[in-house]
Amino acid sequence: MSKKIFLGEDQIPRHYYNIVADLPFQPDPPLHPATKKPLGPEDLAPIFPMALIEQEVSTQREIPVPEPVLEAYMLYRPTPLIRATALEQYLQTPARIYYKYEGVSPVGSHKANTALAQAYYNKQEGTKKLVTETGAGQWGTALSFACDRFGLECEVYMVKVSFHQKPYRKVMMQTYGATIHASPSDTTEFGRKILAQDPDNPGSLGIAISEAIEVAAQDPNAKYSLGSVLNHVLLHQTVIGQEAQAQLKAIGEKTPDVVIGCHGGGSNFAGLSFPFVRDKINGADIDIIAAEPISCPTLTKGKLDYDFGDTAGMTPLIRMYTLGHDFMPPSIHAGGLRYHGAAPLVSLLLEHGLIRAEALSQLDVFRGAIEFAKTEGIIPAPESSHAVEMAIREAKKAKEEGKEKVIVFNLSGHGLLDLSAYEAYLNGELKAEDNGYNG
Ligand SMILES: *Cc1c(COP(=O)(O)O)cnc(C)c1O
Repeated sequence: MSKKIFLGEDQIPRHYYNIVADLPFQPDPPLHPATKKPLGPEDLAPIFPMALIEQEVSTQREIPVPEPVLEAYMLYRPTPLIRATALEQYLQTPARIYYKYEGVSPVGSHKANTALAQAYYNKQEGTKKLVTETGAGQWGTALSFACDRFGLECEVYMVKVSFHQKPYRKVMMQTYGATIHASPSDTTEFGRKILAQDPDNPGSLGIAISEAIEVAAQDPNAKYSLGSVLNHVLLHQTVIGQEAQAQLKAIGEKTPDVVIGCHGGGSNFAGLSFPFVRDKINGADIDIIAAEPISCPTLTKGKLDYDFGDTAGMTPLIRMYTLGHDFMPPSIHAGGLRYHGAAPLVSLLLEHGLIRAEALSQLDVFRGAIEFAKTEGIIPAPESSHAVEMAIREAKKAKEEGKEKVIVFNLSGHGLLDLSAYEAYLNGELKAEDNGYNG
């Protein structure tokens, strides 16, 4: 059996898989932030193109991948499914461990999958510019790349501390031709208001979202773009899980016993797992696990309720597991995945017991990442390392149980631009979270 499993270009999925069509229960509608009434398409039209608004509420099972997006995917898709034989040997586990490697995309993560689709649909509807926010820069980089490919301008509001402390993704975005602002900035009313109160404000994702939405809403040629959480984003990511299923089938491997993804807003987890959730709804026995940080334990400690998507409370209210829209992860946390909420579709699956969630400590996560790097060679993104560590735990459990399980996890990106977090870990500067999240 070959260790690295590729498929030909002709086997890139031709459809996005919409799990809503197969759910035995209905999602709850997003609510207008002022009226608290269910949102209509017209409420979203100023900031999103109609094709994406339709996907957001679609109940159609398969939505075709547009031909130009397929062509763009061919730069890096299908991504390899790799059997982690060296890690298996190191762990002395009877489990067969496979990882789907999304780090081969030009921008180094799965985020290109939705960025390309979003740029394409916007271009089709005459959008000239996409505006977005980014924290550490993965999403901003993916959207900059995608906009460049489809001939759109891209404007990115990057959280000010990251803008200064993490210059390399900024340089990547500039290389693709994007305009970057350190947020809070003096280019928006909201940014100027924050700066007037506090000229040294370090910024936050919430402030950056508010700035990006303000710019997009006021410019008739511009729209806003989001890299996780929303239904249409999760939908685009399902190319990952569909490919993984085809790859397992091509080598005659059975349906996995365990499927794992790390969880920030939910997009890469959903991308790998939703096609397997369909199998589970149809009777397959699969343990599907979302791995999140103890420092930002949205799924394991959050409350299932309507909440805002941003800190400022400007976005629609969505029903999701949430730590509260003013939640700030502790500053000792180095592993990413800092979003206060979870995708509404992931939340719904958790509520109904189709998936489960585990919270991991950052010291365990980096130890697992280094075991993986030393056996399989790839240095995983700190975010992805949550899935790595979870897979290691499940492989150890299989050993204890003496069971020949098949474990599949998503390696959502590489960590080559996150080496400062590895440096902090290797120098012993990372601390265990005291006792996690206290409420
Ligand atoms: C952004 C990112 C994540 C977290 O986002 P999700 O929407 O939860 O997938 C995970 N891994 C990598 C590599 C990322 O860039």
